[in-house]
This record gives sequence, structure tokens and C-alpha cells, in this order.
Amino acid sequence: MALESTTKPYDLIIIGAGAAGMMAAITAGRRDKRVLLLEKLPKIGAKLKATGGGRCNLSNTLPNEDFTEAFGKDGRFMQRAIDAFDHHALRAFFGEIGVETDAPDGFRIFPAGHNSQTILDALSTEMKRVGVEVRCNKRVTKIEKSNALFNITAGCITRTKAPITYTTQTLVLATGGKGYPQLGAEGDGYALTADLGHTTTPIYPAMMPLEVAEKWVEKCRADTIPNAHITVNIKKYRKLQARGDLIFTREGIRGPVVLDFSREITPLLDKGMEVPILINMIKGMDEEAVRKQLKGKLSDNTHYTTLQLLQTLLPASLSEVLCQLSDANPLLGFSKQKGATRERLIQLLAWTPLTVIGHNGFDKAMITRGGIKLGEIDHHTMESKLTKGLFFCGEVVNLDGPCGGYNLQWAFSSGYLVGISASVL
Ligand SMILES: Cc1cc2nc3c(=O)[nH]c(=O)nc-3n(C[C@H](O)[C@H](O)[C@H](O)COP(=O)(O)OP(=O)(O)OC[C@H]3O[C@@H](n4cnc5c(N)ncnc54)[C@H](O)[C@@H]3O)c2cc1C
Repeated sequence: MALESTTKPYDLIIIGAGAAGMMAAITAGRRDKRVLLLEKLPKIGAKLKATGGGRCNLSNTLPNEDFTEAFGKDGRFMQRAIDAFDHHALRAFFGEIGVETDAPDGFRIFPAGHNSQTILDALSTEMKRVGVEVRCNKRVTKIEKSNALFNITAGCITRTKAPITYTTQTLVLATGGKGYPQLGAEGDGYALTADLGHTTTPIYPAMMPLEVAEKWVEKCRADTIPNAHITVNIKKYRKLQARGDLIFTREGIRGPVVLDFSREITPLLDKGMEVPILINMIKGMDEEAVRKQLKGKLSDNTHYTTLQLLQTLLPASLSEVLCQLSDANPLLGFSKQKGATRERLIQLLAWTPLTVIGHNGFDKAMITRGGIKLGEIDHHTMESKLTKGLFFCGEVVNLDGPCGGYNLQWAFSSGYLVGISASVL
């Protein structure tokens, strides 16, 4: 087996050139550490490039405490990392390396040109400037610890070259989760650290489109509903709710509200359950408010057919579907429908039922729910409590946030903290 750079071990080897790994590399490189960054894909930052539909929603403007709270009860674990590198520090950092940022809606932070490539280019230039060695096409397949050093075996993914073993004093695992495997993260980190005693919680795909049983959604394909409200229609799980824009697809639903919602219900689907949900598509109005709204519209125009009336609130195809579901004649005036039909329509407008039956698994999952157990990592430093000199950052650990720049900020913040802590060893 070939050995590279055997004479002098690296100060730091980082596995995975995503947001977390690159930030750890730059932070340690700025502290004069000899850093090697190993990436299995031919190019660095494949997932970062795809973020935000290529616009890269880097972070958001929430105060640190609210930001960590959005990650649920485990959010406290990330407080140290976020305090060390919050959204102000992130914007200052990118400004320093040549990318200004903006927050056009006052919440989500993007690179000013809304182009993820600018972020990638700036990180790459900064890594060069601080002397980080970057090797692509190097998939790490084995980690061994002998005395105080780690031996890292990495093979070329095309398998045309023999594997190489690198040695290092400190090792950073920044291999990401398991979602969108074509962008590199395939869950390697879980297996690689199992040999070092680490455990991975159950993992679930999260943030992806959902499939529903109702075939009518196909007719509404591409209809977009702003600010929809989704809730699980099972008493025990009623608190599982989300709000945001919703888009119908051929087989189900997608859009920001679905991404957030899917984080909550994949564990239920994994138990083999079909999940009944209710969707409010009329800006959160309850039945009484819907009734008033329709009355108001009718007093503006007494000649509206039922279909025309619904179309003042919803897209045309969805309005047609709701007429069918309530057995209303779309061409009849609303007041001419039977009382029970009118009530069914009002009910459907306030809460349209759907049944979630599945998803595409990790293939289309933007993030992974679950990861390396937090109890095995010291949150002050992100160092393993089990193996000295081993650090974790980014999505590989058991933390996941909602849509809106949360996950990238976590990747950058934890990468920064690791870069600092690993540099003082
Ligand atoms: C399509 C899409 C859009 C998204 N948009 C946003 C957004 O706008 N805002 C936001 O906050 N979050 C977004 N996310 C989530 C966010 O991108 C991730 O949470 C974040 O990039 C995780 O960063 P990471 O560095 O931990 O992991 P990754 O970016 O996944 O990087 C891990 C790297 O490790 C490499 N690797 C894995 N195993 C090995 C190995 N054995 N050897 C060598 N290298 C290895 C992988 O190839 C990969 O490059 C999006 C995700 C997707 C999929």
C-alpha cells in the first residue's frame, strides 16, 4: 500500500469538503496548521453548490437563542458553536474573503449575487491562501488509531489507483449525512467511526417531497399555495404542524412547508403508518372566516358561479377539484348549491384532507434526521469523548434544522469551532 507524506504527519486531516469541512480547514489553516482536506468527489462543495436552488441560503437573521431553539430540544448542544460563529460572524467572514451578503426578506441570508458558485470560489481561494492541501477523488475507507496518530486510508473512487494511507495527529469527520447521495454524502461517516466506538442514532430522510394517496393532486400539479398550514390529523401527533408555501406535484406535495413538515413525519411513515393530514390553503382562515370571506366576495359580485368564487381564493384546477370533492356543480351560483354542499365546500376550504403514504427516501432528502450521538461529543470543542483527537462537524452529527439557512449556518459554525479546538491540541 502506498504511503504519502509519511515522514511528517499532518496536524489535521479533514474528511469531507462540504461547508463544515472547508470552514474547519480554513480556520485551522489560518492558525498555521498543516491541513489536508480529503474529498471523495472530483470537486469540492458539490452540495453547497446545489443549496437554495443554486442561490445558497447561507443563514438567517435570528438571534442565537432562537436559532438554536429551532433545532428542538437538542439545540442547546450547538450553543457554543453558534456563539463562537453566528450569522454576524458568518457575514463578516464572507465579506472578508470577497463575498458580500444580503437578506432581501430581512430573514434569509444569501450571497449578494445569489449565486452559490461565488461562495465556493471564495472558500477555495481562501483555502489556497492559507495553505490547505485539497485532494479530490479520495474516498476515505478506513480509519485506524495507533498510539497518538490516526492512519487514514483513502482510495480513488474510480479505483484506478492504489489506496493511500495518510497520517495525522488530529482528525475531523465532516462527511455530511446521507441525503442526495449523488452530491457525495452517503453516510460513510457513521460506519467509519463505528470502529472507533461511536454510535449513530436511527437515521431518517428529511426535507423532501411527500407522496399522497389521493389521485386528484395530479390535476393540480404545479399549483402553488402561498402560506399554507399543514397539520397531522392524528390526535397524538396534532402538534406536528408547519406553515409555508405549498406546491402540488404529480404524486403528492412539495415546497418549503412540506420540507419542514417531512422532517417531522418520516419517523411515523417508517413505522409503516399512513399519515392523515389537513391542509389549510386560505391563509389560516377557519370555517367561520372562510364563510365571511365568501359572503364578502359574493356581495362584490352576485353573478359569480361557485367555480369563479373559489377561483378568487385558489388556482383554477384546485377550485375545480374542490367542487368535485364536495359534489358542487361548478357552474351554479354558490347560494344555489344545497346547504350541505356549501358547508362541505367551506370545510374543505378550511381543511383539505390528504393522506401521506410515502417519500423517495434519501435520494431526494435535503437533510438527514439523526447522526452521531450527541452524548459522545463534547459540545465545547466538538471533540469525541471516546477518541482523543477526533472531531465532528456539520450534518454528520445528530442535529437537523428547518428550512431557511439553519443547516448551513450549523455546518459553518461547527466547522469553525472544530478548526479552533483542533488547532490547540
Ligand atoms: C439540494 C439541497 C439544497 C439545500 N439547500 C440548503 C440551503 O439553502 N440552506 C441550508 O441551510 N441548507 C441547505 N441544505 C442542507 C445543507 O446543504 C447541508 O446541511 C450542509 O451542506 C451540510 O454540510 P456538511 O459539510 O456537513 O456536509 P456535506 O455538504 O454533505 O459535505 C460532506 C462532504 O463529505 C464528502 N465525503 C463523504 N464521505 C466521504 C469519504 N468517505 N471520504 C471523503 N469524502 C467524503 C462528501 O462527498 C461531501 O462533499 C440543502 C441540501 C440539499 C441537498
